[in-house]
Amino acid sequence: MPAQFPEFRLGNVLATSFTGTLSERRGIPIERIPTPQRLVDWLTVSGLAVESCTPAQLELARELRESIHAAATAAAIQDALPAAAVQIINDRSAQGRAAAILTPEGTRQWRLNPATSVEDALGVIAADAISIIAGERDGKLALCASPTCRAAFFDTSQSRTRRWCDMNTCGNRQKKARFHANQRKNPGSA
Ligand SMILES: [Zn+2]
Repeated sequence: MPAQFPEFRLGNVLATSFTGTLSERRGIPIERIPTPQRLVDWLTVSGLAVESCTPAQLELARELRESIHAAATAAAIQDALPAAAVQIINDRSAQGRAAAILTPEGTRQWRLNPATSVEDALGVIAADAISIIAGERDGKLALCASPTCRAAFFDTSQSRTRRWCDMNTCGNRQKKARFHANQRKNPGSA
């Protein structure tokens, strides 16, 4: 039987979907790209299909992921950006050579070079992170309200009052916890 890996949690924003491949950073962390193949799978569902990935490239990806997480967290709380994280984001962005391609249907696709596809894909992710951290896109970086998560996410809601990185997991858990706490306080009033 194939090993069961944690499922991906895909959002609408590439860079924060990527940082979401490690969740529960303040609790019991869940690594969603534990093997090079799982990074290949994640890149494929994210529109950045690559043929293969080495353990060293997975390390490069995780280093970029944690750098984006650190920089996005600092930006969300309006703290100074950590210099080491900024350096890694910039290095990955500079190393990538992906080309944006306009399809006949009017959508954008990324063309990666077969020989450097993982590096090219990481370059696209790094550039996406730069655009949200630099405030170029319509939305606001915020931190998930779940104390075991605190993931940085990009809030594009009209009111900019989204509280959780992911409604189906963090949002739901918080609601359930509140429900049980209320039941304990007022037994019989469920
Ligand atoms: Zn969360």
